[in-house]
Amino acid sequence: MSCIFCSIAAGEIPSFKVYEDELVLAYLDINPFTRGHTLAIPKQHVAGLLDADDALLGEVIKRVKRVAAHLKAALPCDGFNILQNNGEAAGQTVRHLHFHIIPRYAGEPLEFKSHKGDMDELKKLADKLAFQS
Ligand code: AMP
Ligand code: ZN
Repeated sequence: MSCIFCSIAAGEIPSFKVYEDELVLAYLDINPFTRGHTLAIPKQHVAGLLDADDALLGEVIKRVKRVAAHLKAALPCDGFNILQNNGEAAGQTVRHLHFHIIPRYAGEPLEFKSHKGDMDELKKLADKLAFQS
């Protein structure tokens, strides 16, 4: 199976590396939303969030935090968004789990469009969806 992010993790395709350890690689997105937009991936192939082993995921998210903290100080940026797409309908184009770390700069909006919620609809939906672990 060919996977571009596996090839990057294996060093077969070059990347603008920001951070690397035994489990995780982080590198600049070549089509950035903002300056410093970085992707963090597990080196091991995992297609998406729901395919990830919980223990691995825990390790990956700790690295996401570490990379985000570094970017915030080193760029510097004023804030950041974490984005993680799953499935074609959600805009996932590369089927290898990745977290987008998107630096944000004061006064530079990035459009995430919301619409006003219908309270009755929200109540029904919460009743349908609420669960306990
Ligand atoms: P997604 O839409 O969540 O699957 O995001 C995939 C991201 O990977 C996009 O933002 C692409 O710009 C980025 N991307 C694709 N190929 C490369 C590459 N070779 N190096 C760095 N980023 C890449
Ligand atoms: Zn892969």
